[in-house]
Amino acid sequence: MLLNHTTTEIKERTALTVNPAKTCQPIGAMYAALGIHGCLPHSHGSQGCYAYHRSTLTRHFKEPVMAATSAFTEGASVFGGQANLVQAIDNIFTVYDPDVIAVHTTCLSETIGDDIPQIVNKAEADGKIPAGKYVIHANTPSYVGSHVTGYANMTKAMVDYFSEKNGHKSAAINLIPGFVEPSDMAEIRRLATLMGLKSIMFPDTSKVLNGPLTGKFKMYPEGGTTIAQLKETGSSSGSIGLGEVCAGAAARALDAKCKVPCQVLNLPIGLHDTDIFIDTLHRMAGISVPEEIDLERGQLVDAISDWHQYFYGKRVALVGDPDQLLSLTRFLVALDMQPVYIVTGSPAGKNFKAALEEAVADVPGKVKIAVPGDMFLLHQWIKNEPVDLIMGNTYCKYIARDDDIPYVRFGFPILDRMGHSYFSFMGYRGGLRLVEKLLDALLDRKDRDSSDIEFELVL
Ligand code: SF4
Repeated sequence: MLLNHTTTEIKERTALTVNPAKTCQPIGAMYAALGIHGCLPHSHGSQGCYAYHRSTLTRHFKEPVMAATSAFTEGASVFGGQANLVQAIDNIFTVYDPDVIAVHTTCLSETIGDDIPQIVNKAEADGKIPAGKYVIHANTPSYVGSHVTGYANMTKAMVDYFSEKNGHKSAAINLIPGFVEPSDMAEIRRLATLMGLKSIMFPDTSKVLNGPLTGKFKMYPEGGTTIAQLKETGSSSGSIGLGEVCAGAAARALDAKCKVPCQVLNLPIGLHDTDIFIDTLHRMAGISVPEEIDLERGQLVDAISDWHQYFYGKRVALVGDPDQLLSLTRFLVALDMQPVYIVTGSPAGKNFKAALEEAVADVPGKVKIAVPGDMFLLHQWIKNEPVDLIMGNTYCKYIARDDDIPYVRFGFPILDRMGHSYFSFMGYRGGLRLVEKLLDALLDRKDRDSSDIEFELVL
């Protein structure tokens, strides 16, 4: 067993993380940048960082992720990366012709202290940025934060660089999804459209990282938010940010910059948080909730009531990103499950732990929450007091295997399964999919462990 060194004795650790429950900031920035149409993300640092960021996204989405790098060597590491970035901007616009280059930094360029706006100004002064093209940036030092911080920073950069008031309020609303799948973004937009709302979603990776195989190479896929749409966000009638950690900063920046009022909600995972999302859309649109959404909600409620007995009292360990963990925990509690261990490696803001504690207030016994924590600690908790189910990214498979625990993949990254790019966990339909996944894991285990006498055809 790969993790049989995990001990049951828990010692206080302050300066050591083992099996972190997060990845690095630039990965989130690169993912967000891919949600702009015609954008080439650019990693300002060494080729090693860039290869890691690209390969993690490529492995998760099973799509070739296009990006560029400043390719630091010893010289840039000592003297700074200005020459590399100016040269890169020139090469990228000449060879790859994107509409926008989205530069994010790395630990190395942040430690050197490269001033990206100053370098971009120099590139502009040198005539390296063609008319009508853009270079934006976000600082993403990975020794603070995680991939969700990088995502939030790059999403806010879209507001800082592009959003503007055109003097007229449009009827459209802005939808700012957190770090979720392309399938989730499509589902969120579908619900808003069903509610009769015109929306601008940013970033939007649907049809970018879950597009079709057509046999023709396209450097810039069909999807993504266009520059024109990003500019229009400043004239929208309101914004909904989904997930405080990933979407809160951009939603508030838009309010501050262009006076677009915002509401920041939980991600619409599960019954209650989807209800809140739909109710917010309903109030913005001023129309009744259409039958189609009523039907989807009713189907989810029906499935929960039909299968509730298999969820009741099940102890669950959760690993993931803060925004997702909060909504997921609220859904599991609504199913009468018991999320007893909750771990994220990401910093989550001062209200997150309190919100989680409120969500699990009625769960019997003590719920252990580590913010930030690591997966070694989670495994130790499990070894001391087992759980019935573990949910989290691909790295949970080692714990699941070591302790023979039913396991549902959820979150980022998922490197060893497909489906997440195409089938959403958001909204009522996503809730139904989640119920199916949970039941499959629990009932497959029940079938496996049943004696011949208890083994039932019909459950
Ligand atoms: S050095 Fe920093 S930016 Fe580069 S891969 Fe490691 S954590 Fe990420």
